[in-house]
Amino acid sequence: MARRPLGRHAACCAIEQRSGLDSPQEEGGHRPVQEVAADAGRYGAQRVYVQDDVLLDRPLPQPRVDALETLLADNGFDAVLFAATVLSADVAAALAARLGAGVNYDLTDLAVEGDALVGKRPALGDSVYVDVGWTSEPRLALIRSGTFDPQETGGSAEVVAFESRFQDFSLAATMVEQAHEESEGPSIEDADVIVAGGRGLGGPEGFQQVEELAKALGGAVAATRAVVDAGWYPYSTQVGQTGKTVAPKLYIAVGISGAIQHKVGMQSSGLIVAINKDPNAPIFEYADLGVVGDLNEIVPKLTELVKARKAA
Ligand code: FAD
Repeated sequence: MARRPLGRHAACCAIEQRSGLDSPQEEGGHRPVQEVAADAGRYGAQRVYVQDDVLLDRPLPQPRVDALETLLADNGFDAVLFAATVLSADVAAALAARLGAGVNYDLTDLAVEGDALVGKRPALGDSVYVDVGWTSEPRLALIRSGTFDPQETGGSAEVVAFESRFQDFSLAATMVEQAHEESEGPSIEDADVIVAGGRGLGGPEGFQQVEELAKALGGAVAATRAVVDAGWYPYSTQVGQTGKTVAPKLYIAVGISGAIQHKVGMQSSGLIVAINKDPNAPIFEYADLGVVGDLNEIVPKLTELVKARKAA
């Protein structure tokens, strides 16, 4: 966000689990939350509020709503920005309901225009951008994932401990079980390289060659809705309007037509390479490099070339 700062009353909010579960130490275990919080200083945060409490251990929304309500009441912040995840969407919606506040979602930019905070939001299948605002404070917003690159500014953050005023009703729910999908390699949200497969693969077995190419490139595998709906690949890998938004450095689309609903999820990628046998496929209109041909010939050869280059 290379714009004017929002002012001293804005709070950017990370709904981090208490033990920094997303930040594993190199030798196993997890980094203490205070350490994770201090790291935010390197990316421009001046102060990070932390509560290291077992009640925030599980990814349940209501205790986090209590925490944010406490922070807002005690510090007078007038804006709360969330990185869009399933959990933060739950928290933002519940906080909005509790405070009678307005929440704008799926923002891809924010600007201070005059005295007003204005959000930019894609609409109509990402074909237009609309300006959105708030009629009251605090102003809540969910930012589309992958929209901004973290920029290291080299500063340090003051880490401030605080105590939430938990509500009885917020603690009524408990999490009985939490299962993590087994996966190798980076997730599609974090990967620098994504190899995505579409219906042109011909069936679930077609993903094997996509996986091999992704592995050779150290990347992750993604999919279109058509193949997810057909049960060829898991929903967690779906890119697009009703899936995830990704912005890797390199996106290789294999047997994907490039429908608008897919495009909106990957158009911010650094370099888009498309392999498709149809020279008129829409994806060639926005790919940086297009290869017209049968993916069953091209992908295995490409994988061999990548492996050979790495071995050299
Ligand atoms: P197809 O459109 O069938 O394309 C397959 C391509 O493979 C073709 O271009 C063909 O030429 C090529 N091909 C076939 N055989 C070969 C071969 N041997 N070698 C090389 N190329 C070959 N889609 C998403 O992806 N993500 C979403 O989030 C999403 N959300 C949607 C939301 C809504 C409300 C709607 C209505 C649709 C949504 N869709 C979404 C679906 C979208 O409109 C397309 O139907 C879908 O993206 C098509 O997937 P595909 O490219 O895999 O399949």
